[in-house]
Amino acid sequence: MTFTTRFAPSPTGPLHLGHAYSALLAHDMARAAGGRFLLRIEDIDQSRARPAWEAQIKDDLTWLGVTWDAPPLRQSDRLKTYRAALDQLWAQGLLYACTCSRADIAAALSAPQEGTERVIGPDGLVYPGTCRPKAPGGPSPTPAEAVLRLDMRRALAALGERANRFDETGAGPSGETGSILTSAATLIAEVGDVVLARREMGTSYHLSVVQDDAAQGITHVVRGRDLFEATPIHVLLQHLLGLPTPIYHHHRLIRDDHGKRLAKRDDARALSTYRAEGADPANIRRMLDLSS
Ligand code: GLU
Ligand code: ZN
Repeated sequence: MTFTTRFAPSPTGPLHLGHAYSALLAHDMARAAGGRFLLRIEDIDQSRARPAWEAQIKDDLTWLGVTWDAPPLRQSDRLKTYRAALDQLWAQGLLYACTCSRADIAAALSAPQEGTERVIGPDGLVYPGTCRPKAPGGPSPTPAEAVLRLDMRRALAALGERANRFDETGAGPSGETGSILTSAATLIAEVGDVVLARREMGTSYHLSVVQDDAAQGITHVVRGRDLFEATPIHVLLQHLLGLPTPIYHHHRLIRDDHGKRLAKRDDARALSTYRAEGADPANIRRMLDLSS
């Protein structure tokens, strides 16, 4: 199988040094392997995505010397595919509608008789299960009515003995590497009933990313370490939807001078700022400890 990787920015702000690192590393790995490097525009959050940011991202990548081997995949063009996957999971009885607000969830978790613990998972507080039905079924709600959550226990039961495992060639936040196995108990306690369709998007990052990695034929996912903890969710969805599990390579995060992780709002670290100050791509590679 040809080594195929991707860079998947959200067009909600400028690319900064952290994005440049991710894109260059994935691109270098693909070129070194004689493989393919693809681009994906993750614009399902239409309240924040802007065409101008997408244009700027492509311009910055081209300036960096990053080239992609096929037209970019745009998530907003794929809403039907996401809907079909949700319908499939709904038909299997693995999803349910939830109308809880953040405040409802916090209140349920602070009720002493609830017997639930407050655990922060990859998507925030682990859902206490307020809306989880005793028996699944009925017509699936429209996105405006409710979010759709995965019933984690039913999903694990549907998978039977299939282990949640992936190969990590980079490292997680605590140096996790090699074969990464996540137990059912961990998925229930630390991930729980994650949202697979948000109200305003009709999909979610997790659902879209597994569909898109499969559609683009991604063999190696190269991305920041901050997404290591979300990976077992992606592996679970791949199993449920009959999609292959790629190899994962989580890389270090680029931090600012104060050791803080760079965020989109840190415009001072935007590549365009360095460009405007006269930096060239070789300077950027040196700053990131990447060889030319
Ligand atoms: N769109 C995500 C981001 O901007 C990356 C998703 C991924 O690489 O899986 O952080
Ligand atoms: Zn709910």
